[in-house]
Amino acid sequence: MSDALDTATGAANAAPRKKGRRVQLDERYAAYKNVWVFIEHERGVLHPVSLELLGKGRTLADALGVELAGVIIGPPDEATRAFCTMAFHYGADLCYLVADGIFTHYRNQPYSSALIDLVNTFQPEILLLGATTQGRDLAGSVATTLLTGLTADCTGLEIDLEDRSLLSSRPTFGGSLMCTIVNLNTRPQMATARPRVFPVPEPDFSRQGQIIEHRLAMSEDEIVTKVLDFIPDKHADKPQLSFADFIVSGGRGIGSAENFELVFDLAYALGAEIGASRPVTYAGWVDAERQVGQSGKTVRPRLYIAAGISGAIQHRVGMEGADVTIAINNDANAPIFGFSNYALVGNALELLPALTVSFKKHLSALMAGNSPGEMAEVAV
Ligand code: FAD
Repeated sequence: MSDALDTATGAANAAPRKKGRRVQLDERYAAYKNVWVFIEHERGVLHPVSLELLGKGRTLADALGVELAGVIIGPPDEATRAFCTMAFHYGADLCYLVADGIFTHYRNQPYSSALIDLVNTFQPEILLLGATTQGRDLAGSVATTLLTGLTADCTGLEIDLEDRSLLSSRPTFGGSLMCTIVNLNTRPQMATARPRVFPVPEPDFSRQGQIIEHRLAMSEDEIVTKVLDFIPDKHADKPQLSFADFIVSGGRGIGSAENFELVFDLAYALGAEIGASRPVTYAGWVDAERQVGQSGKTVRPRLYIAAGISGAIQHRVGMEGADVTIAINNDANAPIFGFSNYALVGNALELLPALTVSFKKHLSALMAGNSPGEMAEVAV
């Protein structure tokens, strides 16, 4: 259903080029309007990707001059209703609420039915979901039932004001190219985006909105999947790279698993998470959970320190959302210096321990409550 119109360059945020578009929007979809964001939550906890999508959805809705709606499906309790309030604070004008006991646990069948029913009734032109386990499961079944196009794992979402179409960008051909996908003939235009690709917007706690309650005509007897028990993920303590504020990452330039201890040391000194490039996880120096990049995690920390990492596009797409990047590389022409805030040209095996010592001194001075003047002396 979607037409891949525009295969652009290897740049991470390639501007889409236009080619002839021959497909017209079917008249049945002429009335479809507004941007929707599916608000994901589980066991009373909101997934932060929903806030990120509300921020992006607000920009898209403003560009189109339409309203932004949150879609909340959940059990009939205060927590579910509170997600509507939160959606308003983060940019939604209205919320569609489907509350019923059958939504206590996420199950594809009732959630898909509810979302499809909402779409058919209220007709949005754009529907965004997180590229999470739940979002991917739901988006696929909703799009196939509605016979509409879905672009998965987007890294960029923009509006083409000429025909109001959603330009969904994502890496393609193994990450060597970026493509922009446009769904010209059906609605809604659906897309999923990975957590941490878009920033969380500043909340406005004075914002309010309208809640439109909807009922799903489905009973528990009609649902084939039953939840018998909830068993917490025994890996729940795995690295939470996507949500870390500070990350120290090492690449092939670190040389060996033994040398990688220097990355760990700096990370511990800073209270940071540990990341890595793909060759490092492939070599088994650290486990695969720590890989940053296209086939690993997307991160958006306040500080990203990249040591011995060249800055290949597949790594860059995973970390370019960092507020500040410090790159350490012994090659002054390494690509990573092209998109870093600070460049330390030198041997990482010498610079990492030097940074660890300096940061330790600096942080212990901070803890001891020294004045800024005294701290400047111990800073790097
Ligand atoms: P290299 O490219 O080998 O760079 C090592 C760097 O270390 C060099 O710049 C060198 O100058 C520097 N160096 C060497 N010695 C020192 C020293 N002593 N001190 C300081 N600097 C030193 N990669 C990812 O990272 N994440 C992904 O998710 C990912 N997904 C991919 C998906 C696909 C489909 C493909 C095809 C590739 C993917 N890659 C991914 C691999 C990617 O293309 C690069 O090969 C990889 O990022 C390179 O890792 P690196 O920078 O650690 O190694």
